[in-house]
Amino acid sequence: MSETTQYDFDLFVIGAGSGGVRAARIAAGYGARVGICEESRVGGTCVIRGCVPKKLMVYAAHFAEDFEDARGYGWEVGESRFSWPRLIAAKDAEIDRLNQVYLRLLADAGVTLYQQRGTLAGPHEVQLGSETVSAEHILVATGGRPWVPEIPGAEHAITSDEVFHLDELPARVAIVGGGFIACEFAGIFNGLGSRVTQLYRGDAVLRGFDGDVRRVVGEELRNKGVDLRLESDVERIVKTDDGLRVDLQDGECVVVDEVLYATGRVPNVRGLGLPEVGVEVRADGRVVVDELSCTSVGHIYAVGDVTSRVNLTPVAIYEGHAFADTVFGGRTRPVNHEFVPSAVFSQPPVGTVGYSEEDAIHHVGAVDIFLSEFRPMKHTLSGRNEKMMMKLVVDRESQGVVGVHIVGPDAPEIVQGFAVAVKSGLTKDRFDCTIGIHPTAAEELVTMRTPVRSHG
Ligand code: NDP
Repeated sequence: MSETTQYDFDLFVIGAGSGGVRAARIAAGYGARVGICEESRVGGTCVIRGCVPKKLMVYAAHFAEDFEDARGYGWEVGESRFSWPRLIAAKDAEIDRLNQVYLRLLADAGVTLYQQRGTLAGPHEVQLGSETVSAEHILVATGGRPWVPEIPGAEHAITSDEVFHLDELPARVAIVGGGFIACEFAGIFNGLGSRVTQLYRGDAVLRGFDGDVRRVVGEELRNKGVDLRLESDVERIVKTDDGLRVDLQDGECVVVDEVLYATGRVPNVRGLGLPEVGVEVRADGRVVVDELSCTSVGHIYAVGDVTSRVNLTPVAIYEGHAFADTVFGGRTRPVNHEFVPSAVFSQPPVGTVGYSEEDAIHHVGAVDIFLSEFRPMKHTLSGRNEKMMMKLVVDRESQGVVGVHIVGPDAPEIVQGFAVAVKSGLTKDRFDCTIGIHPTAAEELVTMRTPVRSHG
C-alpha cells in the first residue's frame, strides 16, 4: 500500500453492491483508508432487488406444487390461500436485515460510507453532493440497470426493479423476454397463481444455454401452465379499461394486469464522468478493463456488471476481492472467467457449468454427449409429470468433462459441486470411478456410460 497522504482516501469505491463492498472491506483489511458511496441502498442489485428477493419468491411459488404433491404421499392438505402482501412484507424484512448486515460489515471494516450518489469530478476526485473527496485509487462498481426497448406504451411496463413492490399479485401478467429473469418470473407468477403469458422473440428460451436445457425448460414452462409464445414480438402496449393490451407483431394480442419486461440489463455509467477523465467506455456502456480490472486510466479500476464480463454476483465479488488483493495486498490476482457455473431459478431450475454441446462442437471439436432424462423419484408417488435432464459434454481427445448441464430439482446445488470437477479439468474416468449416492438424482452423473451421440 502507498504511503501517500496527499489524498483523503487510498481507495474510493463508487457503488456499494456485491463487488464494491467486497473490494472496500478487503482493501480496508490491508490497512487502506477506504471510502464508499451508494445512491440507493447498500447491498446492491443482488441483495436489494435481485437474486435474494427473487429466490425467496421462488420458494414461495413452489409451495403450490408442494401442497399438490403431498397428496401422493398420503397427506390431505386443507384449502390453501396465498397472501401477496404478507410475502412482500416478510421479504422486505429480510432485505432490511441483510442491508443492516452490509452496513455493519462496512462499519466494522472501518470504511467511510457516503449514502449518496458519487460522480467523477477529476482523475482522483469524486463529487458527493456539494463535497469533493480525493483518492489515490478509484473503483467503479456501479453495476447495471434494466433495459427496455423503445416501443409505444413502454412506460406502462415494469421491470425487475418494480416487480418486488407491486401492491398486489397480478391476476394476469405478460413477461417479455426469454432470459434469466423472464424464465424465473414466469415460474414465480405461475406458481403464485397468476395467469402467465411469456413472450419471447426467439425459437427457444435461454439463448446461449445448452440446447437440451433450452428445450426442457421450454417444455416445463408449458407443462406447468405458462402460455409460452415463441417467435413473438411486442408491437405496442395500450392501456385499456380492462387492463394493459399487449399487441403483438403477428396481429395477436393479450390483455393483462402487468407487463414485466426482462429484456436485459445495461451498465450503469450514465453521468458518472468516466470518459471525461479518460476511462474508455464502449458504446453499449461497458467499462473496458484488463484482467486485473484496471481501466484505461492506471489508478481507476472497475468490477462487476459495469464491466459486463460475466454478469453474476459471485463473479463481481471475486473480481472485487482480486482487485483489493492486487492493489492493496501485494498479490497480483488476475481473474479467470473460464468455467463459471450459473443457475436459472426457473421451475424446475437449471444448473450449468462449462460448454454447451453447441459451443463444445465449435471450440473443442470432437465431443461425446452423455444424456439422461427421467422422472425424479419424488414424482413416482406425487404423480407429477415433471422431467429431469442431466448431461455431460466430454472432450473426446483429452477425456476432460467440459460441460455439466442439469434441469431439475436441486440442479443449482448439484452443479455447484460438479463445477469443482470441471474447473479442475477432471476426466470422464474420474467421474466413472466415483461411486454414486443412492437414491439420488445426481448419481446419474457418475453412472452414464454410453454416449447418446458424438460429434467430430
Ligand atoms: P438476459 O440477457 O438473460 O435475457 C434478455 C432477454 O431479452 C433475451 O431473451 C433476449 O432475447 C430478450 N431481448 C433482448 N432485447 C430484446 C428486444 N429488443 N425485444 C425483445 N426481446 C429482447 O437478461 P435478463 O434481463 O433476463 O437478466 C439480466 C442479467 O442479469 C442476466 O444476463 C444475468 O447476467 C443476470 N441474472 C442472473 C440470474 C441468475 O444468476 N440466476 C438471475 C437474473 C438475472 P435474445 O435471446 O433473442 O437476445
